[in-house]
Amino acid sequence: MKNLAIIGYPVMHSLSPKMHNFISNELGIDYFYRHIEVAPENLEQAIAELRQEKISGFNVTAPHKVEVMKYLDRISTDAKIFGAVNTVVSENGSLVGYNTDAKGFYESLVYSGADVENKDVLILGAGGAATPVSMYLASKNPKSLTISNRTKEKVEALCDKVFGYCGFCADVEMKLDRYDIVINCTSLGMGKNIGISPISDYSIIDKDTCVVDMIYAPAETELLKQARLIGAKTLNGLGMLVFQGILAYRLFTGAEVPDNMADRIIKEVLLK
Ligand code: NAP
Repeated sequence: MKNLAIIGYPVMHSLSPKMHNFISNELGIDYFYRHIEVAPENLEQAIAELRQEKISGFNVTAPHKVEVMKYLDRISTDAKIFGAVNTVVSENGSLVGYNTDAKGFYESLVYSGADVENKDVLILGAGGAATPVSMYLASKNPKSLTISNRTKEKVEALCDKVFGYCGFCADVEMKLDRYDIVINCTSLGMGKNIGISPISDYSIIDKDTCVVDMIYAPAETELLKQARLIGAKTLNGLGMLVFQGILAYRLFTGAEVPDNMADRIIKEVLLK
């Protein structure tokens, strides 16, 4: 039996073990995936212990996605550019860092019929989640991309990164009357911010808008509720969780995961 894990703090709420163990069972692959809670001050020691047990790979969640890079042997080009690692694979004894968040998010949009190509896209937030997603989506030919954030310096820095990544000029001001796709990458809507929406003016959303929230607990944030009442299509963060997980699973095991697995994970594991 080979071992996989997710490290984070807190981490016991994570659905990744259920999801990865389901895939292994379905494919008949002998891997076991567990949670490991790692406080920030113990990160270096935890990575040393994972090396020692010869773990096959592990996912990394908040607050370690940036800090973990210091303790790895190699970082993939994308993870380096995005400045964060969410997947670490042991390759011939070396720990190699990858980032499957941005591609996973994009694949979840395409899967739900919300490709960004030729669409007016609004991203709310400029933090750790918004950064790779903005860069990746900008490279997929949107008609326009606006990134809006409370702290202006952060969003300006992110627009520079987006330009450096793919040459796309994103806007920092909302100039359009409506958007085709609105994506919440802020933490407004969960935890202590439950019931709070990242926007107050809903006129930018209509029944043809797709509103996506990276948050999946609660399943329907205030933003998604208001968007649903307008008649817009709504998606929560479960799709991203599943698709980044499937990409990580492929890196961990080299296994082919069938196309219908995302649907099955959502119905048989996450919504059960
Ligand atoms: P982060 O790096 O801490 O960034 C937080 C973002 O929220 C920043 O843009 C911040 O703006 C904004 N924000 C926080 N409080 C605010 C407030 N009171 N008013 C306005 N803006 C506020 O966090 P993150 O890692 O990007 O995560 C963001 C969200 O994505 C979280 O809810 C997380 O759970 C979710 N997420 C989901 C998945 C998934 O698989 N579905 C994966 C990753 C993240 P400032 O820059 O002004 O501080």
